[in-house]
Amino acid sequence: MSSVVVVGAGIAGLTAARDLVAAGHRVLVLEASSRVGGKLRRDEVAGVTVDVGAEAMLNRRPEGVALAGELGLPIEHPDVVSSRIWSRGELHPLPRSLMGVPLEDPAGVLSPAGLARFREFAPAPVVGDVSVGDLVDARWGPEVTDRLVEPLLGGVYAGQARLISARAAVPQLLTFAAGGAAPAPTYDSPVFAGIPGGMGRLPETLAAELSVRTGATVRELRRTPSGFALTVGPTTDPELVEADAVVLATPAAPTARLLGDVAPVAAAELAAIESASMAVVTLAVRAADAPDLAATDSSGFLVPPVEGRRIKAATFSFAKWGWVRAAGAADGQRLLLLRSSLGRSGEEAALQATDDELVAWSLADLRDATGLAATPVDTHVQRWGGGLPQYAVGHLDRVARIRVAVDAVPGLAVCGAAYEGVGIPAVIASAHRAAARIR
Ligand SMILES: Cc1cc2nc3c(=O)[nH]c(=O)nc-3n(C[C@H](O)[C@H](O)[C@H](O)COP(=O)(O)OP(=O)(O)OC[C@H]3O[C@@H](n4cnc5c(N)ncnc54)[C@H](O)[C@@H]3O)c2cc1C
Repeated sequence: MSSVVVVGAGIAGLTAARDLVAAGHRVLVLEASSRVGGKLRRDEVAGVTVDVGAEAMLNRRPEGVALAGELGLPIEHPDVVSSRIWSRGELHPLPRSLMGVPLEDPAGVLSPAGLARFREFAPAPVVGDVSVGDLVDARWGPEVTDRLVEPLLGGVYAGQARLISARAAVPQLLTFAAGGAAPAPTYDSPVFAGIPGGMGRLPETLAAELSVRTGATVRELRRTPSGFALTVGPTTDPELVEADAVVLATPAAPTARLLGDVAPVAAAELAAIESASMAVVTLAVRAADAPDLAATDSSGFLVPPVEGRRIKAATFSFAKWGWVRAAGAADGQRLLLLRSSLGRSGEEAALQATDDELVAWSLADLRDATGLAATPVDTHVQRWGGGLPQYAVGHLDRVARIRVAVDAVPGLAVCGAAYEGVGIPAVIASAHRAAARIR
């Protein structure tokens, strides 16, 4: 039985640790912060426990739903999925799209000139890697990028469409741009899944089965004749932990620092992956104070950056998730829980504001979009500094170089959001691969 240290108790690290324990290894997970889960995190707002990070996962990839099932966690699908887009000063139904490229006529969202340009689409093959925005600009017109693709990519990557790699982030778009069939709408299974009580239950449940140390920052990684030595804890009182094998399930920047001695080429490549910061503002309002919002049939709305607003999206969690609605109705009064998100890559300055300002900006934009005038009974601000890696043009080649450099070191594996997808199922898949490599 060999000993493995997994660095990082996000969903990637915990999943890899679980696989390794199942394969008979002795596994210790070291987590820098005081909690497990990374971007899957729950907190209380007005006495209701809700997700303040990731709140859903793709249902059409198997890994996330399968893991929840293995852990005995129930799955719930959104009650309403009709998102809107706040474009040209009004909320419109969000057209069915491939990461923002409409698969149906986007009338209303685009100006008449933008709509005419969209309809001129002429298919042609895509050569090499290009940014999503450059591709969409050239094929469907810049208004589609600005008003539809930016808000969709802003939601998933907190990124800018004209910087993010089409090949890495939306490979299906290359086929579609070349004249291939648009993905057929599938009505047989819901697109998204959640967990009643919150996605944060997933890492919490995983961690309960594992040996995890929180408050344990790994500062240094070295090779030894028999494996690895990790320096853990404060510089004033460091501790040495030895292991036969190591899985780094940390974001790109800390992984780059840890790999400096062990895999310098991978370290340099990882250091070049930028990340975007964002904030999630959760609000609880009394249904009686917001009757129009309480009656909404929408799950929320997206905001294109060209609208010049502060928030980039709002999610009406009480309408989207039955469990949130039920949890908000517990103590005789009905509370509506909703959240807004702020922050895109390159716009870090926008988050250099106090929590009160982020709440006030969210309320102002929500009022303008929906007429919401209620004063919240409670608010919660969760900042996600460097929360989402940016898959720049050339990302897949960079990841291939990282993989070659890491694979050259026996007993070392990496996994997490920095590599082949930021969504929860993709991150879980990367963890399974890392564990398989160690096994
Ligand atoms: C606000 C937000 C909302 C999102 N919403 C969704 C969503 O709805 N659906 C979806 O599919 N995806 C969503 N995502 C993306 C998804 O949540 C993440 O990509 C995924 O959770 C990343 O998991 P991870 O394990 O790779 O990394 P993380 O969750 O970042 O975990 C890494 C862990 O490593 C620890 N760590 C870092 N350095 C060290 C060190 N030196 N020593 C020890 N520990 C260290 C960190 O503290 C952290 O706990 C969202 C992301 C954000 C930021």
